[in-house]
Amino acid sequence: MDKISVIVPCYNEQEAIPAFYKAVNDTAAKMSGAEFEYIFVNDGSKDKTIDVIKEIASKDSRVKYVSFSRNFGKESAMYAGMEYASGDYVAIMDVDLQDPPELLAEMYDDLKSGEYDCVASRRVNRKGEAKIRSFFARCFYKLINKISQTEIADGARDFRMMTHQMTQSILSLCEYNRFSKGIFAWVGYNVKWLEFENRERVAGETKWSFWKLFKYSIDGIVGFSTMPLTIAAFVGVLFFAIAMVGIIFIIVRQLVWGGSAYGWSSTICILLLISGIQLFCIGILGQYLAKTYMEVKRRPIYIAKETNAEKTNQGE
Ligand code: UDP
Ligand code: MG
Repeated sequence: MDKISVIVPCYNEQEAIPAFYKAVNDTAAKMSGAEFEYIFVNDGSKDKTIDVIKEIASKDSRVKYVSFSRNFGKESAMYAGMEYASGDYVAIMDVDLQDPPELLAEMYDDLKSGEYDCVASRRVNRKGEAKIRSFFARCFYKLINKISQTEIADGARDFRMMTHQMTQSILSLCEYNRFSKGIFAWVGYNVKWLEFENRERVAGETKWSFWKLFKYSIDGIVGFSTMPLTIAAFVGVLFFAIAMVGIIFIIVRQLVWGGSAYGWSSTICILLLISGIQLFCIGILGQYLAKTYMEVKRRPIYIAKETNAEKTNQGE
């Protein structure tokens, strides 16, 4: 019998967990060919999340948990989950039931056929989400797909099921700044996409503030493209060319007509513009440097405070 490990990152989700557990169990009961294992990752929740998980684990031996020493973010939670997953197939699901559990059966069938290594899901719409958030999300996907070699699908969820082999490949990318949407795409393999209508969460509220999403998008861009550095260099060359034209113009004007000591305000404007662009380019450089700095420290991606499971896979 195949074993499916369901990884569930949880951050302050005490209300959502029971509903999630019940819904996935209902689906699991219908899938006779596979047994399930749950890996709840408590990402430093401040509410009773860990107690709710332990309560479930005490009654169901299929339920494993890993509890972090603080909040490390969903990316770290998914990484930890994969390290502790012992199944032949590994699924990642949000606990808020925005990822329809019914799709698990379809994903499993597709993987079992051997044709695919991963069955991923994407939302076809963003119904129920704030308009402004959808707008920025769209812009982000357009931008990153223009400047990155790795193709990152708009509306792609982290909700997916994949083979053990692909899980190992993902774990082998043990970078500290993790942008999973990019990592999933980067490792390749045959991926099938399932589409579904957006759903609203069953309980609790989204953990992503606008600022958190903004920082996450910078992680994505810096992690999967060096194009901003090229653009900075290009802007430098462009301004050099413009300056050359300006210098020649001023020399010629001075020689032909003389008296070029006017234009104080335009000089200041140009000065401000150029120093602004310089700072902007240094800022871009700084972003890459900052990420490199964090990477070379080689800090662990997460710290597990307690768990009832054995680590089965090891990131490199
Ligand atoms: N999550 C997490 N750590 C965090 C933030 C979120 O483990 O720091 C989990 C959260 O509990 C949920 C999933 O990631 O299971 C998705 O979070 P959320 O529903 O808030 O994101 P959204 O669906 O709004 O993008
Ligand atoms: Mg959600």
